[in-house]
Amino acid sequence: MPRINEHFRSLRAAYLFAEIRRRTQAYREAHPGARLVNLGIGDVTQPLPAAVIRALHESTDEMARAETFKGYGPYAGYEFLLSEIAAHDFGARGVRLGVDEIFVSDGGKSDSANLQELFAPECVVALMDPVYPVYADSNVVAGRSAPADESGRYPGFVYLPCTAENGFQPVLPSRHVDLIYLCYPNNPTGAVATREALRRWVDYARAEDATILFDAAYEAYVADPELPRSIYEIEGAREVAIESRSFSKTAGFTGMRLAYTVVPKEARGRTADGSATSLNQLWTRRVGIKSNGPPYLIQKAAAAVYTPEGQKQVRALINGYMGNARIIAEGLRGAGLEVYGGRNAPYIWFRTPGGLPSWDFFDRLLEQAEVLGAPGAGFGPSGEGYFRLTAFGSRADAEEAVARIRTRLG
Ligand code: PLP
Repeated sequence: MPRINEHFRSLRAAYLFAEIRRRTQAYREAHPGARLVNLGIGDVTQPLPAAVIRALHESTDEMARAETFKGYGPYAGYEFLLSEIAAHDFGARGVRLGVDEIFVSDGGKSDSANLQELFAPECVVALMDPVYPVYADSNVVAGRSAPADESGRYPGFVYLPCTAENGFQPVLPSRHVDLIYLCYPNNPTGAVATREALRRWVDYARAEDATILFDAAYEAYVADPELPRSIYEIEGAREVAIESRSFSKTAGFTGMRLAYTVVPKEARGRTADGSATSLNQLWTRRVGIKSNGPPYLIQKAAAAVYTPEGQKQVRALINGYMGNARIIAEGLRGAGLEVYGGRNAPYIWFRTPGGLPSWDFFDRLLEQAEVLGAPGAGFGPSGEGYFRLTAFGSRADAEEAVARIRTRLG
């Protein structure tokens, strides 16, 4: 038998959402006929925009004819999509990107898990805490930490606590780190970064020769015009930041799978002999080795998001979810809870009543209100004592969840 990658054994027992599924399944089996309201896992619920559906039909028809059939595409994505991304997502905000700096992929999850492959095992990783669990897990599997302690803290990482006490804005690390995972708007806290906050991070990364891995999966939810949407709006970020985005929560692509990562030409890493090398070239090489690009149909569908009609429909989707966020946040406040997020982000984050441990609150919410949420502890040790609900359900679900929480949670 071949030896396995032992680092898998360092991972915490179950991925957060797998454990949520397990508990939910057990509840359903014990209570057949229960009508659960699911504001837990953070998957979108509304159908794809009409412009996207049309593009899917049209590109499917192209596949049916020899003259328009497409086989393997470019590893990093078709130019028709890359140029729309460059123009709309960045050019419109004064950020100039070359199409060879944008890499289309099958998801933000895989991008954020894979980016660490570019760096040496001994690189020190800093993580917002709490945050999307994939950053920690992918670095554990790469051997950058020993197993977590009882609080869920991996000893190899530098945690950047984000709590109500610091407004969910982490302070800069007090020691040198090499890789910094930032997620804004934040999953799970719903916190956003001001221009000044991002500038501090960029300055820190430049001073420390560090690289920021900036996850902007929820960028489309930023409504405040003063807030930056991309880290490249900050001067000097091109040298020290890689940014990832996803069509999942913007255009309802969780089941379609499409995302992209920007690796600027100026971004550099260091070789063993101390010389600088291009991260863009390394990522190009990696993508070439490991991917043949997402399906043509899905890239055509994504390009349709940038048509005027697509933009209007996507905006309507986002506005609908943000309407849910308002209903949930106000409802929870009305129930006397201490509520955060839900303004420029589709997540509502609140303190568990009476300081209840977050998995205990998960069980209580499920048993008393038949509402599913996500326990804060699953996102990092500083998430303990907090809880997340998502705005991605239907309007009826948002209203029903709030009504049940107000009336049933004793
Ligand atoms: N990044 C963050 C912060 C997320 O919350 C998610 C999904 O929940 C992703 C990335 C992954 O998105 P995708 O569906 O593109 O894999």
